[in-house]
Amino acid sequence: MTYQSVNPYDGKLLKTFDELTDKQLEAALATADTCFETWRHTAFAKRSAVVAKVAAIMRARIDEFARLATLDMGMLIEQARSEVVLSADITEYYARNAEHFLAPQDLKPSSGEAVVESSPIGVLFGVQPWNFPYYQLVRFAVPNLMAGNVVMVKHAGIVPQCAIAFEKLWIEAGAPAGAYTNLLISYDQVSRVIDDPRIKGVALTGSVEAGRSVAGRAGQNLKKSTMELGGSDAFIVLEDADLDKTVKWAVTGKMNHTGQSCVSPKRFIVVEELADRFLDKFRVALAALEPGDPMDKATTLGPLSTEAALIQLLGQVERAVAKGATVVMGGKRIDRPGWFMEPTILTDIKPDNPAFREEFFGPVALFFRVKNEDEAVELANDSDFGLGGSVFTKDVARGKRVARRVDTGMMFVNQPTSSAPDLPFGGIKNSGYGRELSSLGIQEFVNKKLVRVA
Ligand code: NAP
Repeated sequence: MTYQSVNPYDGKLLKTFDELTDKQLEAALATADTCFETWRHTAFAKRSAVVAKVAAIMRARIDEFARLATLDMGMLIEQARSEVVLSADITEYYARNAEHFLAPQDLKPSSGEAVVESSPIGVLFGVQPWNFPYYQLVRFAVPNLMAGNVVMVKHAGIVPQCAIAFEKLWIEAGAPAGAYTNLLISYDQVSRVIDDPRIKGVALTGSVEAGRSVAGRAGQNLKKSTMELGGSDAFIVLEDADLDKTVKWAVTGKMNHTGQSCVSPKRFIVVEELADRFLDKFRVALAALEPGDPMDKATTLGPLSTEAALIQLLGQVERAVAKGATVVMGGKRIDRPGWFMEPTILTDIKPDNPAFREEFFGPVALFFRVKNEDEAVELANDSDFGLGGSVFTKDVARGKRVARRVDTGMMFVNQPTSSAPDLPFGGIKNSGYGRELSSLGIQEFVNKKLVRVA
């Protein structure tokens, strides 16, 4: 496995990076372990000052960070800028609130005293995906560092420039050596890091396959893990939805980062009264997107992250069609350099079609027509995934009712699934377990210790 930055816009190799030797990895683990012994006793105010500085640097250098993301994996530059801003928001949020979230909790027992204290557990290891190359790191690293843990991260092989820039940011902000460590390591080394007794917890964001492998290894070692995995979010449109607003959200949600988001809507489930009109408008809006240089603010359709990802997605579409799906639009590679794919809508996907259960990670929308609300809920729940989802209706009470019936970790009414510092993020079923962000995210890797006085 290699750490390479290849520009998805034109396929040019920009930089290659060496993996760590076993000796370098051992030194990094030792430094992190030593750092924990100091960092765990560092006052919240001091930790908070470092973390707030990280946010300030991100804000001061938005363009620099955004540019690296666009070069490494082709994200449209304005979206990359928004990602940096959101990352800074999350960082500030924990700098401000961590102490309060982890304050000792008085249980007020019937006699004597009983308090639950939250203490850090040690060096944590995170395995992270390329698709939001700073936001994913922040979600894992910042709350855990504020809790007094220290973190080591294996980032995805295709975003080494982002991974290295993010590590430098911590050093620049004054974090002690070993508080945040970027590891350019192989899968074999990942396994050995998980086995290492100095590592006390493991977090992965990525595909189901990677989750099985990393969670399995953590389980063998009886180490706590959190898993943020794939999704196939339902976008439910009821007959009383505001059609124009809903189509706008459908395009924004679907095409955020060219559909390469775990929570981008993947299954559009529309009640038949509105189905034809929705499909017409959705198709017209998707057809208006213009491929181009993701560095250019005017571009509305970016490339996929790698050629392998493009080939995999085209193959999924081909197999879906071979099993009876109909292509409403798109379905092909765009004839130009780089890893571009046409915005695509597939329909007539029956339960025996493999596409019915797969995650399509890119600009492909699966369209389903249903009779009514009940059928919409049933179809939404007929999935191995359970990450996010959304429902569109003018009747908010009805929207909330439907949201309660869909089995996922997150449901949104009248907007597609999105993320904010104070909203918990995570899923159920094959979408994983545990939560990141909000007051919940900071509780995953702390020891909830009871102190009882007779
Ligand atoms: P991926 O291939 O699973 O990679 C994720 C990370 O895991 C990368 O760092 C990768 O390293 C590493 N990895 C993969 N297999 C591994 C193994 N056997 N042992 C050790 N490390 C391994 O996923 P991706 O293609 O980058 O990301 C897309 C997936 O992530 C989608 O399914 C998406 O829905 C999901 N995702 C979920 C969330 C969430 O919060 N639930 C957020 C974002 C993305 P290399 O890059 O070096 O292979």
